[in-house]
Formats: sequence, structure tokens, C-alpha cells
Amino acid sequence: MTGPDLEQGIEENAVVAGVPLLGHAHGEAVMLVRAEGEVFAVAANCSHYGGPLSQGLVVGGTVRCPWHHACFDLKSGAVRGAPAFNPISCYQVQRTGARLRVGPRLTPEAEAAVGDSSTNIVIVGAGAAGHYAAETLRQSSFRGAIHLLGRDPSVPYDRPNLSKDFLAGNAPEDWIPLRPRVYYEEKAIHLETGAEVSRLELSARQVVMSDGRRVPFDRLLLATGADPVPLAVPGADAPHVHLLRTLEDCRRLIAGLGQAKRVALIGSGFIGLEAAASLRARGLEVAVVSPDAAPLGRVVGPEVSAFLRRLHEQHGVTFHLQESVARIDADAVVTASGRRVPADLVLVAIGVRPATALAAAAGLAIDNGILVDEHLETSVPGVFAAGDVARYPDPRSGKRIRVEHWAVAQKMGAVAASNMLGVPRRFVDVPFFWSVHYDVTLAYVGHSDSVTDLTIDGSLDARDCRVQYQENGRIAAVLTIGRDMQSLEAARALELRV
Ligand code: FAD
Repeated sequence: MTGPDLEQGIEENAVVAGVPLLGHAHGEAVMLVRAEGEVFAVAANCSHYGGPLSQGLVVGGTVRCPWHHACFDLKSGAVRGAPAFNPISCYQVQRTGARLRVGPRLTPEAEAAVGDSSTNIVIVGAGAAGHYAAETLRQSSFRGAIHLLGRDPSVPYDRPNLSKDFLAGNAPEDWIPLRPRVYYEEKAIHLETGAEVSRLELSARQVVMSDGRRVPFDRLLLATGADPVPLAVPGADAPHVHLLRTLEDCRRLIAGLGQAKRVALIGSGFIGLEAAASLRARGLEVAVVSPDAAPLGRVVGPEVSAFLRRLHEQHGVTFHLQESVARIDADAVVTASGRRVPADLVLVAIGVRPATALAAAAGLAIDNGILVDEHLETSVPGVFAAGDVARYPDPRSGKRIRVEHWAVAQKMGAVAASNMLGVPRRFVDVPFFWSVHYDVTLAYVGHSDSVTDLTIDGSLDARDCRVQYQENGRIAAVLTIGRDMQSLEAARALELRV
């Protein structure tokens, strides 16, 4: 606990508009925030991963977390933006003369019920988007039926952790579920795990399960995510060759590490490089094999790419770049140039494809994803799509884009939920993702297809910098290391452009 004891009180003029004042009350870190002409007292830690909200950005009557950009309402504590699920505590602010004191904790007000209780909503896919849509529906006090149907045998889980702490062995398995199973029972969300939807019968308004059952819907959300692209070379189906998308994949991979000493990672994208860091943390030898000239070069540009390569090399990772894989042997990956990269375990991380098969078979418009409008509605009214599978109109660039980010999938789930309830909301959120490599976290806001026009402020090697990517003379995306506030401000500036 740092800062003043706010139960004892402080001078009111110490609370400056838009600048959280950190203190403590009732045994908890609490901050006072002056915003929109009022002073609010709220918990000072984010309900997602405990980020310091006192170092966050105050926008209107909300505060945004510097770590993963979750957003909370200062008056009610309610979540206003993913990736958080739970509200933060709010406290009474008592005024005596020129002093402010933090009083008792306030009881959250229930949200007014929205939507018709006879409506039946079916969500296919219980990942980031599907789960968040279901939560949003219940938080909106929707009283109709919600069927959340997921192929995974597990309850919805924290997928980004699978290449980070969980793979490194630093996160116990009970961190991974987003909610315990009992949560879904309490909220009357009919979660079916291990439940594959095999067909959509859109004119009959029903989905068909692989066991033949039919589940009727009034509104349907397709949140089927994306599937890893397999490598089509001899040996790629051997038991020591792995993909990483699901918790099951990750468990299998970890089990396979038991006897392994040398790992070859095929692909130099975010998941491959994060996995490299996690496997180094387990003491394995790690080699990256990739056809790219520079890891992640097409996403982050040459300077950040070179920095990431140096960072991984300093941690003992070796790179075999501009090398494509010809075959996988039991003890090595063999490249097209004839190089043998010794490996007793191989992880293929060469990208994903949107899981559009169900939607395509049902006749929905598809083009590198399910095409949706700004309300995330597909070409069939009442059928929505969200997350990695959906390709939507980006309000900033005017282009149709599909992004593969956790918090974006969740935010799309929330917007789709609102639209399914008949409360129209456009999806205009600024894309955001983070990526962790050893002790370096990258935060990226916006969307840019081009890395030819960029400016770097600060120093990559000092892990203190901001990289701005321009398209047509305007900032399209901003990457930061060690500058969380600038990341939040960049997201806000992009937001204001709509
Ligand atoms: P998913 O979360 O993939 O969920 C889709 C679900 O649909 C799956 O559970 C699938 O089983 C189910 N499904 C598919 N078809 C059917 C069917 N026919 N019937 C029933 N169920 C079906 N993003 C970041 O922003 N930051 C990160 O650090 C980050 N790290 C990542 C690390 C890893 C290892 C991976 C794999 C991804 C990471 N991502 C990260 C990306 C992020 O996880 C995805 O963008 C996000 O999960 C997409 O959410 P989604 O709901 O669209 O899809």
C-alpha cells in the first residue's frame, strides 16, 4: 500500500482533474479520480491481471489500464472494455469542508434488462469472442436463453497464456480458465464443451450438432476463431511435431518436452517467438527456422525485427532465416537448402486460417473470413460473426480487415451481443494486442499493412520507445515498449478519428 490513508482523508484540491491519486482504504489500494466534474474513489488495480490503474488514462468518466487497455466506468466500476470481465470496487466519497474521505464500498447497481426473454441466442465457438458475448448478454440482464457451444473439452480459457507463462511452466493450470464451470450455471449460460457444430440450417434457424441434435436460434453468433496452418511436408504428421492453438495442444506439447533437449520452431511470427522465449525458460535449446528474412519484419518493420532477433539471440535462440522446410526427420528439421537443424521436438507456428467452413457451407459471404458489416452482421440478417473469423470494415482505413487479437475478439463479442439484443452498436474499437518476450512486452495499437513509413522515438535497446507507422501521411499504428501511457494515448487518438 502506498500513498495517503484515504479513510483519514486528504485536501480536496490535491485531486487534479484526470490524474488519479493513489492511496489506500479498507485494506485495499484505492485511487481518487476527478473526472467530469466529480471525484470518484475506485480500486486501483485492474480486475484482469492487476495492472496499476493509477498509471492509466482517464477518458471522460472512465479509466483505462496501462497493461492491456481494459476500461472501467468510474461511477459504477463496470467493465467498459475488454479484456477485463469483472468490475472494480467503487467507494463513497465523503466531503467535509475542504477535505475528501473515502467511505464504505458501494453496492453495484443492476443494469436494466435489455432484450426479449423469449429470444434464443446461439453462439458457436466458446473462445474469446463467444465467451465475451455470452458474458455481455448476461451483464446486460438479458433473460433469454444463451447456448454457448464449443468444440474444446475445456471451459473457455486464456489462450494468450498458452505461449507465455503456461508454456514456460510459470502459470499453474488453474489460472487458465476464464471462469469456473459453476459461473456458467449461475448465469444460466448453457455452456456445452466438447460440442461440435457440424452444420448451420439458416432458413430453419437452427444449428446441427455433430451428434445430430438441433439447437434452434433467433440470433446466431459465429465465433469459430481460426485454425493453425499445418505444414505440408513429409514428416509433419509425426508425433513429435506440434501445433499450438488449444489448451489440449499446449498440454500435448508440454508432455512432449519431457524427453526433449532441442526444439525447432518453424515460423517466426508472434506465437513462434513467444514460444521460443517460454521454451528457453525451460532450459531447452531452441532454433527458429523461417522463410522470412527478418522475424516479424512485415508486421513491425526492420528495426523492431532486428531488436527482437537480438533479444532472442541474447537468450540463446538460434535463427535459420530464409530457409523453408523440406521435411521433418525424427531428429532434425531438414531445410530446402539441405541444412539439418537438430530437433527432437518441432513446433509449427506458421500462421492461422479463419475457421469459415461452417459459414461457407451455409452460403454466407466469405472472403478471407466471414464478411460482416459495421454491426458485425453477416450477409444473412440475424446471423453475426466476431473474432478471428470475421472480416469487418475498419472505420479508420476504410479497408476491410481481419485481425487476430485477443482483446479485439472480446470487444467484437461485446458489440455483437449488443446488436443481437437490438441495441445497435458499430464496431469501431481500435485494435490492440500485446506480446511478451522474456522481460520485454510490446504493446501495439491500430492496424497497418505497411511498415515502410515509420518513425522511432526513443531506444529499442533501452526498451523505452515508441514506433509510429504511417499510411497516407497519417498514423495508422503505434508500437511501444516501456511506454504504456503513450500506448493508451495513441489508442485514444486513433479512437477520436472515428
Ligand atoms: P478462439 O479463441 O480461437 O475461439 C474459437 C473457438 O471456436 C475455439 O475454441 C474452437 O474450438 C471453437 N470452434 C470452432 N469451430 C467450431 C465448431 N464447428 N463447433 C464448435 N466450436 C467450434 N492475441 C493477443 O492479442 N495477444 C497475445 O498475446 C496473444 N497470444 C496468443 C497466443 C497463442 C498461443 C494463440 C494461439 C493466440 C494468441 N493470441 C493473442 C490470439 C488470440 O488468442 C486470438 O485472437 C483469439 O483467441 C481469437 O478469439 P476467437 O474467439 O475469435 O477465437
